[in-house]
Amino acid sequence: MSLLSVIVPCYNEEESVALFYQELTKNDPFFKEKEIELELLYIDDGSKDGTVREVKKLIEQDSRVHIVSFSRNFGKEAAMFAGLEKSKGDYVVMMDVDLQDPPKFLGEMYRTLETGEYDCVAARRTDRSGERRIRSFFSAMFYKVINKISKIEFVEGARDYRLMTRKMRDAVLKMGEYNRFSKGLFGWCGFDTKWIEFENAERAAG
Ligand code: UDP
Ligand code: MG
Repeated sequence: MSLLSVIVPCYNEEESVALFYQELTKNDPFFKEKEIELELLYIDDGSKDGTVREVKKLIEQDSRVHIVSFSRNFGKEAAMFAGLEKSKGDYVVMMDVDLQDPPKFLGEMYRTLETGEYDCVAARRTDRSGERRIRSFFSAMFYKVINKISKIEFVEGARDYRLMTRKMRDAVLKMGEYNRFSKGLFGWCGFDTKWIEFENAERAAG
């Protein structure tokens, strides 16, 4: 058996919590086939709505579900860090709860890591459909500028959706940066990463 930790930061996501669970657990037959045990960590980033209530409903019906709840909103980076710290898995994956990081790719990602050829499988979207043009513009500018000034390559359209080995998770946690920028840290720590591509998915709810 190997343990897979799924880290899901949530801020005011009462509508998405159960939808995410439904989509993720569609992989259960795959997990069974591969003898993967699941640890689903919802990280509540100080939500003011019913996010915690929705997660607790899931905890009652499925012992694989867990929650870490912040005293206030600290931001997604802090939530991802807390999730990494809490994770016990041999493999660890980070995903948004709004289904913009579609759980249906987990199988493909896992199969890639399983070969032992890579330490990490990361996802990038190939378009930004549904996003406001001003945001797409500033995102594109960001990648242009950062790639000019940085020695690390920042892949345009990269998401925080990553499946990594415990070895990489440990290395990422050793970086004690206070103000974290995970995309930079993941690139900087230098493990072999395979990129998979998908078309942008719009937020499921909320
Ligand atoms: N999120 C969080 N804390 C925040 C803002 C967002 O944990 O302060 C979570 C959010 O619930 C979601 C993910 O981070 O699971 C991405 O947020 P969002 O969908 O708002 O970002 P976008 O898709 O617009 O980049
Ligand atoms: Mg989103």
